[in-house]
Amino acid sequence: MSKVLIIGAGGVGTVVAHKVAQHPEVFTEVMIASRTQSKCDAIVKAIGNPNIKTAKVDADNVDELVTLFNSFKPEIVINVALPYQDLTIMEACLKAGVNYLDTANYEPKDEAHFEYSWQWAYKKRFEEAGLTAILGCGFDPGVSGVYTAYAAKHHFDEIQYLDIVDCNAGNHHKAFATNFNPEINIREITQNGRYYENGQWITTQPLEFHKALTYPNIGPRDSYLLYHEELESLVKNYPTIKRARFWMTFGQEYLTHLRVIQNIGMASIEPINYNGMEIVPLQFLKAVLPNPQDLGENYEGETSIGCRIRGIKDGKERTYYVYNNCSHQAAYQETGMQGVSYTTGVPAMIGAMMYLKGLWKRPGVWNVEEFDPDPFMDELNKNGLPWHEVFDGDLEL
Ligand code: NDP
Repeated sequence: MSKVLIIGAGGVGTVVAHKVAQHPEVFTEVMIASRTQSKCDAIVKAIGNPNIKTAKVDADNVDELVTLFNSFKPEIVINVALPYQDLTIMEACLKAGVNYLDTANYEPKDEAHFEYSWQWAYKKRFEEAGLTAILGCGFDPGVSGVYTAYAAKHHFDEIQYLDIVDCNAGNHHKAFATNFNPEINIREITQNGRYYENGQWITTQPLEFHKALTYPNIGPRDSYLLYHEELESLVKNYPTIKRARFWMTFGQEYLTHLRVIQNIGMASIEPINYNGMEIVPLQFLKAVLPNPQDLGENYEGETSIGCRIRGIKDGKERTYYVYNNCSHQAAYQETGMQGVSYTTGVPAMIGAMMYLKGLWKRPGVWNVEEFDPDPFMDELNKNGLPWHEVFDGDLEL
């Protein structure tokens, strides 16, 4: 019996539920719980499997979570709600004896700032409880860490330079929309950039550095240096890394809208008083922007995400590029969601599968690169995210 509880019924939760339902041999009982139960019911209807249970839960409330965990008794929780809920869900897992997996690190609601320290602080408690917590198991973070672990295991004696490159060359035919939760997305990209070099973190202005990088089957795209959470764990787990950076593509139209949104104060997370009501401008903006879950139908093109690595093997320098391209339309046809939700939800399902098969079962709190990458890489090929390798090519970086 392997019971899984999915928390969150957004774009990513929808994909996780579809993929979990494709593996009844691993996930023998499934429940989807979220703030709005009707959204969970709609997912079950779309999948067409009435055995999947649903529930309403406020994941900010530890007691409510514990009650739900004690009644359904899942072996593992896949947390695909928002980063704000990571700590309450981890706390409830400890109280109810449930294993944990998420796709994004904790972020306080009132501060646009994310780092692993809050979740790493739970390591001893998970160890003592004999429970496993797997952090950051989407695509990036997630597959980006598994790719790095695979490169370190099979292709390098020493990884020295790591660049994670994330391109969305899709077109959803909207003037402006974000591909996942707009509030989380805009908070992430309007922050200062940051990268690691020679033992130090270097801070940049938001989107200060950019360069054209060539993506397979797509061509050159302007790519911007951002801070991304997996850099923190990867430089810790691979101390030979001299430089680690993260790049993401943005089109000019997107950046112009973003600049206007910021200039008129709509990206602010400071509450304001409007007609006697307190509102947070960014949360209001989310309410009027297109829902990322509705982008799939008209979405064309592909995402391309990978790791470009330079280092040493058998005394010689080598380069290695490992990547996946994902078609938005293929993702939509399979799950009703676009490629960004798909590339996040598939790895989350695979991570839970790794745990339930006993392959990634180790009491404590871990980032994905700390486990054996091989069985995970095999499952990526079987579950819609095949990967490709280029040896000794020009990394452009
Ligand atoms: P959505 O906003 O579409 O979905 C979030 C879901 O969580 C909604 O169903 C929402 O409920 C629910 N939720 C929010 N707050 C609570 C709460 N307090 N209690 C219960 N449920 C709650 O987001 P996405 O699906 O786009 O993203 C999900 C997660 O995936 C995010 O953490 C995001 O950062 C992460 N992500 C990770 C990526 C990676 O590659 N690692 C890439 C993309 C996203 P309601 O419907 O009622 O609002």
